[in-house]
Amino acid sequence: MNRLSVEDQRKLSALCEKIEKNTQNFLGYPVSKDFDYSELVELLKYPVNNLGDPFAECTYAVDSREMEREVLEFFAEIFRAPKNDWWGYVTNGGSEGNMYGLYMARELHPKGMVYYSAATHYSVHKNLHLLNMPNIVIRTQKNGEIDYEDLSNTIRMNRHMPVIIMANIGTTMTEAKDDINKIKAILNDAAIQNYYIHCDGALSGSISPFLEPRPAFDFADGADSIAISGHKFIGSPTPSGVLLVKKSHRDRIARSVAYIGSLDTTITGSRNGHSPIFLWYAIKTLGYEGLKKRVEHSLNIAAYAEERLKSIGIEAWRNHNAITVVFPQPHEMVRKKWQLASEKGLSHIICMPNVTEAQIDELIADIMKYSEETILL
Ligand SMILES: *Cc1c(COP(=O)(O)O)cnc(C)c1O
Repeated sequence: MNRLSVEDQRKLSALCEKIEKNTQNFLGYPVSKDFDYSELVELLKYPVNNLGDPFAECTYAVDSREMEREVLEFFAEIFRAPKNDWWGYVTNGGSEGNMYGLYMARELHPKGMVYYSAATHYSVHKNLHLLNMPNIVIRTQKNGEIDYEDLSNTIRMNRHMPVIIMANIGTTMTEAKDDINKIKAILNDAAIQNYYIHCDGALSGSISPFLEPRPAFDFADGADSIAISGHKFIGSPTPSGVLLVKKSHRDRIARSVAYIGSLDTTITGSRNGHSPIFLWYAIKTLGYEGLKKRVEHSLNIAAYAEERLKSIGIEAWRNHNAITVVFPQPHEMVRKKWQLASEKGLSHIICMPNVTEAQIDELIADIMKYSEETILL
């Protein structure tokens, strides 16, 4: 390989600088940045690929399947998956895991109707379109949680069809969690026999096992599959995710492929072999207790941010045990500096484990500075 030209070298340095700078002021998206995977740098020398099923043999052996299986076991345990009846794989992100959940539901209930709340992540709509599944949007309550009454009424109107629920375990905007127990009670009352519940736990799936009271979201609560993002709460230099599903479900779609000497059970063929190693490293170095501490830190910072915002007269609020603080969208300059998303006049900050009180103080100072300027104008 040739070396980079001087000009391209400069471009690359500028990119590194930009990324480093933009990583500093980052409060608006649910992505952790407090990781150090430098011990894994050596692995960038190899084309690590977990082609095929993580639990099946494969002829391609430059892989990290062993670590991947340990990652899956860890999540199976904290998501209370039934012993010997779970399966999963490390995905490219939460969206792929959600797509898998819907795909599984469609294979089991080809005539099913999908129900999901208006606060559901935008990618779900696209996946339903790709999978060609009929679906109905359910109203949300003010806090972003699904409106159980609307869900109940809508299901009753279509009670001849199997029910497929796409539940939110932490919505994108307000981190609201749909309650699986309440949803199951609705299905029970309507005497629905055939149903499937998928939980989109992109952000809060990996937080919820550490919360008290524990939200109703996992396999013991009645989920058939759960998807999370690996680069959100855990943190990873490349996007990743974890998908877990009851094994008895996935056995109905597994298909053997001679070319790779494995089972074709995953959505993509080649799969990132590096991302399971990042997740494995995080789980091994932090452990259950370390992850719990990060959750506690995030909750403390969120409480601090909510209080500070209220103290300067801003109507901030958050859902119970959420690390997302919602408030009326601030001045454009503040949104730009802190990379704050906004929707329908609302912004939020997400107090990921790397967020500090000092950053919240700086944000508060910025909000005050720009609201004064607005008043002077
Ligand atoms: C981020 C997110 C997703 C999508 O996850 P990716 O990892 O970005 O693919 C889906 N649902 C919710 C609620 C999210 O927050």
